[in-house]
Amino acid sequence: MQILVVGGAGYIGSICVELLLDEGHEVIVFDNLTEGHRRAVDERAVFIGGDLARREEISRVLYETKPDAVMHFAANALVGESMQNPSKYFRNNVCAGINLLDAMLEAGVHRFVFSSTCATFGPPARIPIDETLPQHPINPYGESKLMFENVLRWYDMIHGLQFVSLRYFNAAGATEKFGEDHRTETHLIPNVLKVALGQKQHVEIYGTDYETPDGTCIRDYIHILDLSRAHILALGTKESAFYNLGTGGGSSVREVIEVCRGVTEREIPVIEKPRRPGDPPRLIASSAKIKRELGWKPQFEDLGAIVESAWRWHQKFPNGYGD
Ligand code: UDP
Repeated sequence: MQILVVGGAGYIGSICVELLLDEGHEVIVFDNLTEGHRRAVDERAVFIGGDLARREEISRVLYETKPDAVMHFAANALVGESMQNPSKYFRNNVCAGINLLDAMLEAGVHRFVFSSTCATFGPPARIPIDETLPQHPINPYGESKLMFENVLRWYDMIHGLQFVSLRYFNAAGATEKFGEDHRTETHLIPNVLKVALGQKQHVEIYGTDYETPDGTCIRDYIHILDLSRAHILALGTKESAFYNLGTGGGSSVREVIEVCRGVTEREIPVIEKPRRPGDPPRLIASSAKIKRELGWKPQFEDLGAIVESAWRWHQKFPNGYGD
């Protein structure tokens, strides 16, 4: 198939592009490079610079290429930042996304795979989080993604847009070529690995008084390749659907740091800080639905193997993509 990957220069998008190409698909990447990196775009893909906020730019690409499907990764995705600048999240994650959907419909493209998030749930009533649980986000990031999920439901009902919305838990790890490089790094695993590389003095632990066994937040870390495989499976579906995507395992912040110490064999000093606003204490996925319906199966169920892949990439590219 020919796939237009919007946001294909970012962390998750770049690795999905690599896997699509490996599987024989043709890929066009559309990205404004505010978060992404030109060097993160696989050289086998066609790259087109442009911004979803300017509707005509994405319309032109869709008219000219008429892809079989669109994968949409372009978004802002930081819980903390969204608590300080909600406008950015609603504009970029909702309004710009609607430009993309409208341009698709105009060009006659009706197949869509969306990067959603477990942050749409907020603190869940039970664990693991399956698709039947109510969604009550507690930060504008999660709210913006939930709003877009609702737009998708209506566009399916009214315009016949066929979508799959994949609600990622915590994406982590790397391939040999591509990995995680955010210009401002707020994520746990890359920050811990920067300490291991000697680029930072210590890791900050945000909150040690949560109601979890060791007092720190628990997340479900999923390897980026397992996430990417789910996108490829989503291309083969007929019905619109929402799927939660994690490994079903939970690791606390302290456990992640301990695993990183084991993998890197480096000392990793920590400093305990207050809670970060907007963080739910515990997020663990049930991925039973995507396993049952699409036959998805994670290949990395062990956090050590996920961290090892990230550590290899960070050692190989200590300055990330260097831009
Ligand atoms: N976290 C932390 N120190 C850091 C970065 C993150 O203690 O330097 C915590 C954060 O508060 C959350 C967990 O690690 O509980 C995962 O955060 P991350 O930003 O990686 O992903 P999120 O779950 O926010 O998408």
